[in-house]
Amino acid sequence: MHVRVLGSAAGGGFPQWNCGCPNCQGVRAGSLRAKPRTQECVAVSADGVSWYLLNASPEIRSQLESFPALHPKGLRHTPLAGIVLTSGDLDHCLGLLSLRESQPLVVYATERTRHGFVDGNVLYKTLERFEGQVSWRTLKIEAEVELPALDGQPSGLTLQAYSVPGKPPLHVKGLAPSLEDNVAIRITDRNTGGVLVYASSVRGYARVLERMAVGATALFFDGTFFSSDELVEMGASDRKAEDMAHWPIGGTEGSLHFLQGLPVSRRIYIHINNSNPILNEDSDERDRVHAAGVEVAEDGLELVL
Ligand SMILES: [Zn+2]
Repeated sequence: MHVRVLGSAAGGGFPQWNCGCPNCQGVRAGSLRAKPRTQECVAVSADGVSWYLLNASPEIRSQLESFPALHPKGLRHTPLAGIVLTSGDLDHCLGLLSLRESQPLVVYATERTRHGFVDGNVLYKTLERFEGQVSWRTLKIEAEVELPALDGQPSGLTLQAYSVPGKPPLHVKGLAPSLEDNVAIRITDRNTGGVLVYASSVRGYARVLERMAVGATALFFDGTFFSSDELVEMGASDRKAEDMAHWPIGGTEGSLHFLQGLPVSRRIYIHINNSNPILNEDSDERDRVHAAGVEVAEDGLELVL
């Protein structure tokens, strides 16, 4: 299985357009040893020909252009066999509206995520210009789904969605929370035995995370915030990490402690907020993550599993 990180930042990207925090200012000025990052999106493929996207970020156009394997191979063509949505957050879905150039799309999502994006959304009409423009495939919790290649034959990849702690997206507020609001994905390559676990948004510990990690060869994990009160201390927000449904990295109860104990050879933080000190390659926090054997994703990172 080929895995390519197209975007590794949380919503807003790094730097974020309206943010003057020390990280964002430092990366703009070139005074901070850190790499700019686009918003979270990862591409996976069994054969390097048919690709699946995990989430559709607002920066999808430049992300598809950034990776030649995702360029069209004909006058009107895409190597995208499908797009998998892990939640209804706009950071994960907004890119769909940018793929409106009359290309048939296949989108995998829970019924809850489909409903939140499609029903009552007048902008969605741009993806309903002809029959079959978007084909939705329903992800049921923990049900195994075969991912076909572009020619319709099995690609060798299978996918399972697991319910993990999260929250409903802002635009569907008012509905009762559902187990289908936020999922993590486990993708298995039947040919190589490689297993990718993708958990880019997790509010806190849950036993299902350990279950998903059994036999995994690589794990991407929510690296949004290093500390619970990161934005509060900065004066940028009055909300803690947990209020935004993200498990902070640091501290005795943090996700780093959890990841350290998992028997997975590649453990990689992704969905990193621009305020997070691990973006600074000279920070103590970055050193602590590396010392625990955990990596920090950057755009362009590739794995073969
Ligand atoms: Zn910032």
